[in-house]
Amino acid sequence: MARSKTKKEQEHMDKVARLGCLICRKEGNPFSPAELHHIRDVRITGLGQRAKHTQVIPLCVAHHRIGKESFHHNSRAFSEKWGSQQDLLKETLELLVHDSLWQEE
Ligand SMILES: [Zn+2]
Ligand SMILES: [Zn+2]
Repeated sequence: MARSKTKKEQEHMDKVARLGCLICRKEGNPFSPAELHHIRDVRITGLGQRAKHTQVIPLCVAHHRIGKESFHHNSRAFSEKWGSQQDLLKETLELLVHDSLWQEE
């Protein structure tokens, strides 16, 4: 069970989900409905740490856990094709910054 989220984490997760699937975006389909993949990579989260709610990547169901292109079907093939979880997290955060700059005027 995931630990409960703070309000700030929830806001962040909402924003990430609103970006739409990161991989569909790369394929030219922005704003494909996404669910959140929690990163579980000890190099990012630290050894023995639980996944943090801020370390999430937006992925649609097909790219997340259903079908042979999905992350959870074959995370190694997925990373080889689209980049490591760390890279994808970085891209996600860059998109968020980009979007907030646009919104701020
Ligand atoms: Zn997708
Ligand atoms: Zn996942």
